Amino acid sequence: MSVVKVTQDGVFGEGEMTFGGSFVPDVLQNALNRVAEAFEKYKDDPEFIREYHYYMKDYVGRENPLYYAKNLSDKLGGAKIYLKREDLNHTGAHKINNTIGQILLAKRMGAKRIIAETGAGQHGVATATVAALFNMPCTIYMGEVDMQRQALNVFRMELLGSKVVAAKSGNRTLKEAVDEALMDFATNHEDTFYLLGSAVGPHPYPLMVRHFQSIIGREAKAQILEKEGRLPDYVVACVGGGSNAIGLFYPFVDDLSVKIVGVEPGGKGISTGFHAAPLTAGKPDVIHGFKCYVMDEAEKCHSIAAGLDYPGVGPEHSYYKSIGRAEYLSVEDQEALDAFVTLSKTEGIIPALESSHAIAYAMKLAPTLPKDQIIIVNLSGRGDKDVAQVSEMLN
Ligand SMILES: *Cc1c(COP(=O)(O)O)cnc(C)c1O
Repeated sequence: MSVVKVTQDGVFGEGEMTFGGSFVPDVLQNALNRVAEAFEKYKDDPEFIREYHYYMKDYVGRENPLYYAKNLSDKLGGAKIYLKREDLNHTGAHKINNTIGQILLAKRMGAKRIIAETGAGQHGVATATVAALFNMPCTIYMGEVDMQRQALNVFRMELLGSKVVAAKSGNRTLKEAVDEALMDFATNHEDTFYLLGSAVGPHPYPLMVRHFQSIIGREAKAQILEKEGRLPDYVVACVGGGSNAIGLFYPFVDDLSVKIVGVEPGGKGISTGFHAAPLTAGKPDVIHGFKCYVMDEAEKCHSIAAGLDYPGVGPEHSYYKSIGRAEYLSVEDQEALDAFVTLSKTEGIIPALESSHAIAYAMKLAPTLPKDQIIIVNLSGRGDKDVAQVSEMLN
């Protein structure tokens, strides 16, 4: 029996402490029901699986390596650190695993049009990429402020043939972009598929995104068994919405000897209120139509890593926290920045600022452990997109 208790409607947990589900108006619920039915129908379909794996291999470049970071491990003088190299995927991060899976489902459902939300633009680019690949018109909602901050990603999406629409209400960032995408979906679900970017949102998205991202953990498990002949002691990943983390964690969740650690962005420090760490410093609430840990309204959603600043978090992580299966803690901007520099200098690998949070925690953990222990860190993306920002901060 799995430690993960989840109902057919995507409600995690039992009794009073439940997470996930779907809290949306009826029109939107109808649209979500159609997606849930299609996902159930195709997820175990041999032809669907074959097609997904074809694109994972020949388009994305999987499987990617599980790399023993010997220089970094030796320097720290403790546990062995392995890096799961999602940074080597086409488009430079794990997000493509999910966008390929969802667009294959959209095609099966007969959708004529794709929509998506994006914050920093990474999910927008991954969606625009697969929309180009499958020749489908695509509209991406993005906060007006984010469009100014991430102008290069807006250009990438347009270059790939997508239309980027500015969300102009409220703070004009990710939250408003999600609101507009949900509204579009409710209105146009007859011919439109909403391709959501993380393990968040109403059912079935958290389970669907976990399904497509779990390729990370399945590969990592087979690779560590081959290299070390045993399971790791720790699996560590950064948590924004939680998709790269759940992708690594889920295949290990019933291996109780494996400790699971999710690293949230502590921003300028939890006590300053400038962070994006709902599991560390939030409480259960409903956001965007599902229940999870949510940041306090008075706090300012902030992280050095644009891809991590979301005020909620995936319901499955909220559940793992509530049953104690995983530990969630936070790493501050400065520590992530130090890890970004350290991994670049010791291994010749420039990590995404998001992934640098997970590396920063592994760098603290490894020296406290004996040399025969093993830590797997998800290197969720490459840092090329971040070098201009970091150069400005360091000079
Ligand atoms: C988007 C992004 C994240 C955060 O999203 P999750 O859904 O929490 O994985 C982390 N790392 C990289 C490289 C990203 O692009």
